[in-house]
Amino acid sequence: PVRVRFAPSPTGLLHIGGLRTALYNYLLARQTGGTFVLRIEDTDRSRYVPEAEQDILDGLAWASLTVDEGPTQGGDAGPYRQSERRDLYAEAAQRLIDGGHAYVAFDTPEEIESMKERHRSDANPNPTYDASTRGEMANSLTLDADQVQYRIERGDEHVVRLMVPEEETVMFTDRVRGDVVFETATVDDQVLVKSDGMPTYHLANVVDDHHMGITDVIRGEEWLSSVPKHLLMYRALGWTPPRLAHLPLIMSPTGGKLSKRSADRLNIPVSVVQYREAGFEPEAVVNFLALLGWNPGDDRELFTLDELVTVFDVERIGKSGVQFSMDKLLWFNGQHLRQLSPEQIAERARPAVEAKHGAVDAAALVAAAGLLRERLDKTSDLADADYLFGDPDAYDPSGVKKRWKDDSARLVALYADRLEADADFTEASTEAAMRGLAEDEAVGFGRIIHPVRLAATGTPAGAGMFETLVVIGREATVRRLRKAAD
Ligand code: GLU
Repeated sequence: PVRVRFAPSPTGLLHIGGLRTALYNYLLARQTGGTFVLRIEDTDRSRYVPEAEQDILDGLAWASLTVDEGPTQGGDAGPYRQSERRDLYAEAAQRLIDGGHAYVAFDTPEEIESMKERHRSDANPNPTYDASTRGEMANSLTLDADQVQYRIERGDEHVVRLMVPEEETVMFTDRVRGDVVFETATVDDQVLVKSDGMPTYHLANVVDDHHMGITDVIRGEEWLSSVPKHLLMYRALGWTPPRLAHLPLIMSPTGGKLSKRSADRLNIPVSVVQYREAGFEPEAVVNFLALLGWNPGDDRELFTLDELVTVFDVERIGKSGVQFSMDKLLWFNGQHLRQLSPEQIAERARPAVEAKHGAVDAAALVAAAGLLRERLDKTSDLADADYLFGDPDAYDPSGVKKRWKDDSARLVALYADRLEADADFTEASTEAAMRGLAEDEAVGFGRIIHPVRLAATGTPAGAGMFETLVVIGREATVRRLRKAAD
């Protein structure tokens, strides 16, 4: 049975790329009848943000990605926070040392700095740990374990490092990238246990994926270069590695990786909570993210989460970076919004509407939502239709210039008279009233409808005129028309 995990580090707000990773894992779990595990990778205490875990949970819940096992759900493979699993990492580190696959290193930060200084050159601006003390340490481990023990007991700062074979080719097949080859000569002796006794990401990740029975790893491309280190550990520990799939990078609309900084510059929100607060529908964000790196093989674009579960296919995840597009997301948002009932739209729009217009009557809000459903990009845009929540206090100047003629005031006033007498006040009756007036006054329909729209809404364009009038209501419509005609 498939077991996948979403393994965020609680270092800040869940971002949109993280939600994509979670989504792809969730889809694979659901379509295989597998298990979706949430594991909090909180071993880096210097970057730990206490609120982050709750934000991750909220983000997943908002997107309806239900977690099967995790810190709040529990499960047989727990605990699900790495800070609560330290014994397992210590045990694995010891096994690696005992097997000659890892070693204790006493280099001080200063020594490492001067080692790097020695190797730094134009060709190699960022030298990695050169393991020059490794032979010595490895020897001391096998020949003089006592001395290592002595220094540890004496309290000398030390780390545990992976002993990367000098010249070996590590090969693996990634489900997205195909066959990947790494030369171990380019892989440094990764720190596995830090001087504070905490495991690094690499050790903890491998240990947990094994002990939690993870069968498939789906994560961002930035982790691809870690794979050789992980595979060496799996081999040394005698464990079977999971299947791997690395997702393509999310690119900025202007090129380059979409980083926090480039996103800020382009005014693109990066945190899931910002999308939530900006009034995006979770269904739309999910649909958008699903297609940001995966495609169904035809040109269908609209999917619900359940539909994605059916059609998603790991083999169809793309290799090349995918460009983030706000316009596309807005389009998805509009599409998903139209699947909602007016009641649902009203409920989601209420916070934005009330923030701008104060308390609104429930029925009026539903009517407004029904009227503008086809025209909204976001539910919160309902708040911009000021004329549905109060009389206009200004008229669009270019609309006035183009549409308000010499006879407009007279025609609008006459129409107000007819509406006042229209007890039904339906779409049909208000339209009939306008046709009757146009005939009686021997003017074109447009001569009346455009000024009426301006008078009733303050704007030159919008939803169907008569539908709009019905939502505004007879009393308010007549009042507005009279005021404009004055
Ligand atoms: N904790 C890592 C992260 O924050 C997990 C990477 C992985 O999935 O292995 O993305």
